[in-house]
Amino acid sequence: MAFFSFENPETPLQLIDDEVTRNAGITLWLKRDDLIHPQISGNKWRKLKYNLLEAQQKGADTILTFGGAYSNHLYAVAAAGKHSGLKTIGIVRGDELSITSSATLTFCDQMGMRLIFVTREAYRSKEADDRIKSIIRESGSFVIPEGGSNQLALRGMFEMASEIDTQLGKSPDFFAVAAGTGGTAAGMLKCKTAPVIAFAVLKNGHFLQEDILSLAGPEVNKSSLLLQTDYHFGGYARHTQDLLQFIRNFEIKHGIPLDQVYTGKMMMGLYDLLFKGYFEKGTEIVAIHTGGLQGRLPSFS
Ligand SMILES: *Cc1c(COP(=O)(O)O)cnc(C)c1O
Repeated sequence: MAFFSFENPETPLQLIDDEVTRNAGITLWLKRDDLIHPQISGNKWRKLKYNLLEAQQKGADTILTFGGAYSNHLYAVAAAGKHSGLKTIGIVRGDELSITSSATLTFCDQMGMRLIFVTREAYRSKEADDRIKSIIRESGSFVIPEGGSNQLALRGMFEMASEIDTQLGKSPDFFAVAAGTGGTAAGMLKCKTAPVIAFAVLKNGHFLQEDILSLAGPEVNKSSLLLQTDYHFGGYARHTQDLLQFIRNFEIKHGIPLDQVYTGKMMMGLYDLLFKGYFEKGTEIVAIHTGGLQGRLPSFS
């Protein structure tokens, strides 16, 4: 395993101090998991760790996974494969696409990922699709689900949450995190150190309540999940001008880049809760910078 080391590089816990946090009377920390690896960033690194170890233990030389043209997960798997000497196969949603359809797909191709473009219908029923099944069989692949959210992924998130407790010297009062498939939030809930405020980045995200709790398992207290569904800013991968302005201002003030698909929505949502007096004075919150900066709009840089 050349460049992908499974040693947890402890990422910084950075204090975010400004007029909003001061007016709210709370303490806000940002867990800088965006700094974990330049290409395998944030929660994708954490989610892949035990999957790659398991693949290695099983003697698999190929990882197969699924994603859309802008999938941060596909991007991370392609890079992790390249750095660890594993072959990778990406099943991509949309047979009209090609390696030039997005910067993500071009990157995956450059990392040596074999990209297979399938129809949306085949993608929807990927567990049952004959062509996909035979690709898996013939390649002897270790399969990681879409978004990377399986039980092995939760173990990596659990570790991240424990790392925060060690760094703070105690548990915070709340964790805040963006939720797409909810695997990240589920892993943090499993750690049971603090309630998790999960910001759904897609429209009608109420279904995530059940998805997250069922991933986390029955031992997790339901009331520890505080799902926020009003901060999708138009839906998955959509954004508003207000969101972009918030991200620009946050970067100017704190020198920390956010992306418009996940971390920007979480942070703007959290700031809105601070404005509204959602938290008691003295509350300590740790928000997770889950990375994803390669997906930033070109207009930010
Ligand atoms: C994938 C991703 C998420 C969502 O993680 P889930 O476990 O699917 O909820 C959040 N933030 C970033 C930056 C991501 O790339």
